[in-house]
Amino acid sequence: MSGVAKKMRTFAEKSSWIRKMFEEGARMKAEFGADKVFDFSIGNPDVPPPAKFYTVLRELAQDEQPGIHGYMANAGYPFVREALAKRLGAEQGVNFGVDDILMTCGAAGGLNVIFKALLDPGDEVIILAPYFVEYNFYIDNHGGVPKVVPTDKDFNLDFEAIEQALTEKTKVVLINSPNNPTGQIYSADSLKQLGRLLDEAGARFKTSIYLVSDEPYRNIVFDGNEVPPLMNTTTNAILASSYSKELSLPGERIGYLAVHPEMADKGAVVGAMTLANRILGFVNAPALMQRTVARLQDVSVDNSIYARRLEVFCKVLDQAGMRYVRPKGAFYLFPQTPIDDVEFCRLLTDQKILAVPGRGFGLPGYIRLAFCVDEKVIAGSAEGFKRAMELAKK
Ligand code: PLP
Repeated sequence: MSGVAKKMRTFAEKSSWIRKMFEEGARMKAEFGADKVFDFSIGNPDVPPPAKFYTVLRELAQDEQPGIHGYMANAGYPFVREALAKRLGAEQGVNFGVDDILMTCGAAGGLNVIFKALLDPGDEVIILAPYFVEYNFYIDNHGGVPKVVPTDKDFNLDFEAIEQALTEKTKVVLINSPNNPTGQIYSADSLKQLGRLLDEAGARFKTSIYLVSDEPYRNIVFDGNEVPPLMNTTTNAILASSYSKELSLPGERIGYLAVHPEMADKGAVVGAMTLANRILGFVNAPALMQRTVARLQDVSVDNSIYARRLEVFCKVLDQAGMRYVRPKGAFYLFPQTPIDDVEFCRLLTDQKILAVPGRGFGLPGYIRLAFCVDEKVIAGSAEGFKRAMELAKK
């Protein structure tokens, strides 16, 4: 009899879609050869980090100053936070101080830090479907309750649905833009409207409702789209981001949080988040990576690679007759399925195509396709998508 917690067993079951597809992909690659399988299941950036990353890393690796690999302030090196304050200030149109920035172990570490700092047991966190599936677990980690709210047919904010979901227990509304899995970017106007809605609800309930935006894909955008600033929406805004996609460094676990400089209880929130970073066991974000990214504020991965893949993929889906909302950013497509999403994934698997059913993201009737693979793999999947669509109509 396993001593593993019942809750963890349920969680393993709930989060199994991506894992299942990943395992299926590994099995198929072993059986048919990696070049015969079209694996769109995993969002693991394959575009190389910018050349400057290697130059800076090599230089820093040679530094033998005593203490350079030691602990530092739990919030991160002040000079690194200063570099970020400068960049984010320009991006967001507000003046960040060093103390408004906290270095974290990726955006995932950052979100856990936020929830640890803000949530009392039973506090509600509104998440928008379809969502990054890990949100449910991060919220539960800290005793919170996820409250799932739908988005509209184009995956934009549904204000009526959000308003109805707000209660005196709502502590956080969590958004993700550009979105995984839809690629949607919320407009400046809709963000402002959301900020107003939360401020009004907070005043009505005599509580603080924080707007948290998870933006690790901020720099991966298409067709001239931009992610509007979060900081002119509400002073209760917290930005969570990372270098996982922007510099293709997900394994290095380096990210950050930025708190609105005029947040009313900023000192308490930042203090709690700094303590959370320590007592969650992160202690601090990796030292070498902090020093590295401090010098990489002006570079990003080659976006044109993702943009080209998007073009190729859209053609493949158009030819197959699949319907989708063109993503504005990130590296996913989220097309509708003509039949049940799990059934359709089975038809795709028969064509050696791996996709993740939308229900894994809280929205059945869709599939997620990650384009973290070579253009040739995308082009090579065209016949398979056509065939699966034909079979689905039979
Ligand atoms: N948020 C979203 C929407 C993601 O897709 C991911 C990773 O795929 C993360 C957060 C976690 O990113 P990080 O590697 O920065 O922790």
